[in-house]
Amino acid sequence: MGNPPKENRFFDQARETMDWEKRKVKLNKNFLETFHHAFRYSKAYREIFDSAGIEMSDIKGMEDIERLPILRMDDLVERQKKDFPFGGFETADPEKIRRIYINPGLIWQPGEWDYQDTSWAEALCGVGFGIGDRIVNTFNYHMWPLAFMLDKSVKMIGATVIPTGVGNTLMQVKIMQMLKVNGFMGTPSFVMTLAQRAEAMGLDLRKDFSLETALVGAEMLPESLRTRIENMLEMTVRQGYGTVFLGCIGYECQHMTGLHVPDNIIVEVVDPNTGRQVKSGATGEIVATNFNTSYPMIRMATGDLSMLTKESCPCGRTGLILKKILGRIDQATKVRGTFVHPWQADEVISQYSEVFKYQVVITRKTHKDIMTFVVELKEEITQPGILQARIERDIKDMLTVKGVVRIVPRGTIPDLHKKIEDRRGWD
Ligand SMILES: [Zn+2]
Repeated sequence: MGNPPKENRFFDQARETMDWEKRKVKLNKNFLETFHHAFRYSKAYREIFDSAGIEMSDIKGMEDIERLPILRMDDLVERQKKDFPFGGFETADPEKIRRIYINPGLIWQPGEWDYQDTSWAEALCGVGFGIGDRIVNTFNYHMWPLAFMLDKSVKMIGATVIPTGVGNTLMQVKIMQMLKVNGFMGTPSFVMTLAQRAEAMGLDLRKDFSLETALVGAEMLPESLRTRIENMLEMTVRQGYGTVFLGCIGYECQHMTGLHVPDNIIVEVVDPNTGRQVKSGATGEIVATNFNTSYPMIRMATGDLSMLTKESCPCGRTGLILKKILGRIDQATKVRGTFVHPWQADEVISQYSEVFKYQVVITRKTHKDIMTFVVELKEEITQPGILQARIERDIKDMLTVKGVVRIVPRGTIPDLHKKIEDRRGWD
């Protein structure tokens, strides 16, 4: 049994390419089952829905999902402290758990119940893995669940996993070389570490290795780094995005149109303040609902910002696509009482092709915050004052707080800079 070409690999082609109307019916059914199940059997959800004044009959389908409260990690942690160890989110008898995972901050997660999550398996096929591939899994097998989830998913797609975990770079390099490993899972920075180690050992990265595909995650992947790794090792690098409690939320296929949302999860992009969905293509916080029958996550907030679209992709997948991850909501800075997010500043500046580079600097003078957009232009222009005024007007419109624009010569803003730099002194 051979593999189809990389760009045509699916975990379940019929499901991943079904038309939107059919998909909606299926997601709706899964959502209602999860909601009813959580309402009946989870103490935490019953309390959460009760205090939001929601009765079981109020929610008739996915169109009512926005009525349900957003679940934040802080709420989950609080509930785990009160109702030790799982916070009452569990819907099955704790004796049936075969694993307890530990997340940073001692947040407990029950695992190995009856629920089979296929979201990472779908991602593995989507990024190009297939039957017979030998994949090193360099995510940490100690305590955290991600490595185990991926391990299980590799088996689901008929490939072979080598559970190397993190560290031991010398051994890892040898394992990859000797076993002719053609797949890698781990962080982008760990690929770089291994490549540097191999070079230091005198190995030829292109000739001595058989790597073809990498699924990277858990870190941002700047395009410059992706290109560097791809050229260095002659391999394809694709991203998977998810959280341990929700599973995979998005993955890139060969065509890189964005992150495909797996078909066993509902993903929304919402206004973090109201929990209401933003319009298609607008920026907001990623919130997701999975159909885990033992530890369901309903409208769990990720803290990550992105945009959701219904664009089509040449690979044939028909689900929603998350455009790239733009950053965290907690990277926002408060200016005169209003939150300013790096992505909002990007949105303002992206409209001006004249701009080469910019940075937002926040200072404080006589107890007043001053927000300055320091801007470098691609080339000198004849009437900088007009451009300045236009950007200032957009800042006021889009950020709802006043800012000034200062045009500076090329080379003023350092290469490595924070998008929003807070220089306020508080003494
Ligand atoms: Zn695609």
